This record gives sequence, structure tokens and C-alpha cells, in this order.
Amino acid sequence: MHPIRIVLVGPQHPGNIGSAARAMKTMGLDQLRLVAPERYPHVDATTMAVGADDVLDASVVVPVLAEAVADCGLVLGCTARSRYVSLPGYDPSQAAQILLEQAQHTPVALVFGRERTGLTNEELAQCHGAVHIPAVAEFSSLNLAAAVQVLGYEVRRAMLNRVEDKALPPAPSDDADDQPGVHQELEQLFIHLEKTLHAIDFYKSRPSDVVMQRLRRLFLRAQPTRRELRIVHGILADADRMARLARGDL
Ligand code: SAH
Repeated sequence: MHPIRIVLVGPQHPGNIGSAARAMKTMGLDQLRLVAPERYPHVDATTMAVGADDVLDASVVVPVLAEAVADCGLVLGCTARSRYVSLPGYDPSQAAQILLEQAQHTPVALVFGRERTGLTNEELAQCHGAVHIPAVAEFSSLNLAAAVQVLGYEVRRAMLNRVEDKALPPAPSDDADDQPGVHQELEQLFIHLEKTLHAIDFYKSRPSDVVMQRLRRLFLRAQPTRRELRIVHGILADADRMARLARGDL
């Protein structure tokens, strides 16, 4: 099983799903998740897969992005727009390297958007970073399967280079508590954070969604370990308790 998962969000043309599966197979990728595809299964998907039916057969269909990446420690969203200001940006080769690095510890995902509209802001906000293929600015949007091919190639190249590289870094710690929390664990933290900030009346006149957006960015960038996440949960629980004490609720 390849350690890097490919996620197609809301693909509209079944042919593109098949082409993406074929692109994946040529580069050794075999983990495909489809988030609410418009038409699938479909004969066009099978036709375009030409021999990569096994990738299609093993693919998993889920209703929302969060479900496709719940266990991932690193999630990168591919976007045809070159400047996605609120996320760290990577080119395909950088993306391939950090994905392979993190894949030593947890599953990781590369997420692709809809043919017409790409990924929504809400979906991008669930990603640790954005990947942009530096196409010409006036015509920067590649066909979905072509984008999968480019990223797949970079992942393949990074893997081949890595195998050749004898000076591998020392083996990482095996302790699961020292690994970065996965997507689902961070989402739980964000829920706790949002609730506690309400409870301690932190927002005041500030718009809570903007505050939460900045905090999401901070935590996603930091990639906290499970041990660190537990500390933050502990602090939030204490802050909530103090606020209730102060209000006389306890
Ligand atoms: N009109 C859409 C483009 C969608 S293309 C938009 O403006 O976002 C379908 C998907 O292919 C995109 O969501 C993205 O995941 C990927 N893709 C296309 N061109 C890309 C590029 N230059 N860099 C990175 N990903 C790209």
C-alpha cells in the first residue's frame, strides 16, 4: 500500500476519475478516496482507467472531506490559484517531500478539487497547506487528472531519490503520543477551543469565525503532537471551570 492517499473532492466528470486512477497507477499510487462524486460508478470512469480498474475497485466513496482525511497527519490541498494567502504554499516537489516525511508516522493526503470550482474555502481550511503547480498565470487550471499526474510524478521522484539517499535520518520515535495529532484530533481541539472561548467570553466584539480561522492556521502549522494536544485540552478545561466558578455556576 502506498503511504500517500489521493482524495478527489466532488469530481463532476466520471471520465476524470478513471484518468486520475490511471495517472496514479503509473506512479505507484493506489489509495484513492472519492468525496461525493457526482456520477460514480460510471462506465466512463472504467473506460478512462484503462487497466487501472484495481485502483478504482479499491477506492472508497465518502460523503465529506473530513471523513476522507480523518486519520491523516498531513493534508495538502491542490489549488489552481497561485496565491492562497492564509495557508503555507508549496510547489509540487516540496509537497512530495514533506508528504513522504510525514508518511513515516501517519497516513497523509493530497486533496484535489472539483473541475469547475476547485476546493471551497471551508475545505481548504481543513488543509495544512496548499499546493500549486506553477502553470502560466493566465491559464493556470490543469485538467483534474493532469494535476494528479504531475503531483504523482513528483511523489514518485521524491521516493526514488529517497531510496538512493543512503544517509537517511535516524528512525523517528515509535511512541504514538509523540506523533502529530491527526485531522480528526485537531478538529476535536477546534471544537473545544471555540466552545471554551465562548465560555470565557474571549470574543467580545471580535468576529468568532475570524478568530477561529487564525487559530486553525496556528495549530495546523504547528502540527502539535498528541501529548501537546492533551495539554491544550487540559488548559481549556481548566479555563472553562474557572469561568464557571467566577460566574457562580459551580
Ligand atoms: N476552476 C477551478 C480549477 C479546478 S481544476 C479553480 O479555479 O480552482 C480541478 C482541480 O485540479 C483543482 O481543484 C486542483 O485540485 C487541481 N489543479 C488544477 N490546476 C492546478 C494547479 N495549477 N496547481 C495545483 N492544482 C491544480
